[in-house]
Amino acid sequence: MLSRVYTNRVKGMALIALAVIAIAALVGAAVTALGSRQPDYGALRRAMVEDQIRARGIKDRAVLRAMAKVPRHEFVPTALRENAYEDHPLPIGDGQTISQPYIVALMTEALRIKRGDKVLEIGTGSGYQAAVLAELTPKIYTIEILPSLAKRAEATLKRLGYNSVRVRTGDGYKGWPQHAPFNAIIVTCAPDKVPQPLIDQLAEGGRMVIPVGPQDALGGQDLQLVEKHNGTVKVSSIAPVMFVPLVREREKP
Ligand code: SAH
Repeated sequence: MLSRVYTNRVKGMALIALAVIAIAALVGAAVTALGSRQPDYGALRRAMVEDQIRARGIKDRAVLRAMAKVPRHEFVPTALRENAYEDHPLPIGDGQTISQPYIVALMTEALRIKRGDKVLEIGTGSGYQAAVLAELTPKIYTIEILPSLAKRAEATLKRLGYNSVRVRTGDGYKGWPQHAPFNAIIVTCAPDKVPQPLIDQLAEGGRMVIPVGPQDALGGQDLQLVEKHNGTVKVSSIAPVMFVPLVREREKP
């Protein structure tokens, strides 16, 4: 009799233990599922376009469409994916950064790209800006001085289907004379002054957007629009910005 009671009690305890294990497993599975669930990147991207870009005055429909389409999270390190659509730049390795989404849109809009235009980018970085440009015209040429970044950007662009973008490792200060002239040139690193080779490689009627000034410039560098008309060059100021410096080949970090 005593031993029967004892056995029943053991059985009861075993059942409770099993139940506890089962509940713990369920909770664990639920937590894992929640943790590994991808954020809705499309929704984050649409919010980015509305709240950060359209709200600040970017109107060009093609630019807004491109910003709403390019999967920015695919261009940032895996650990930062969930931060990809936030209102600031992010590190992409090798001491470099991907620009704030609004700055990408602002610079792209200033280029006034028409389909068929040939565009040169200096400072490929992650390849994100190149992908945004590729949504506007297939003829994109981009130069990155750090081989590791150039390789990674090229792979990312290929993986996402941006096959028409030509990526080259080299010093973008010198431009890409073999493919000049360019209807638009975008420089995403800051030289102290506009490189003459880039002015030379700008087509008649062409537009160049370029941050100018030292990295420690008080109040930021000057984002300039350089336009070429009848062979003369007109420079206007767009906004204060902060970019990594344009480094020359001999002073590579
Ligand atoms: N447009 C990039 C961000 C660029 S960050 C993006 O969308 O992710 C600036 C980049 O310019 C860095 O990757 C840096 O290595 C590169 N850079 C600096 N000096 C350069 C030069 N002389 N020629 C080409 N790239 C240069």
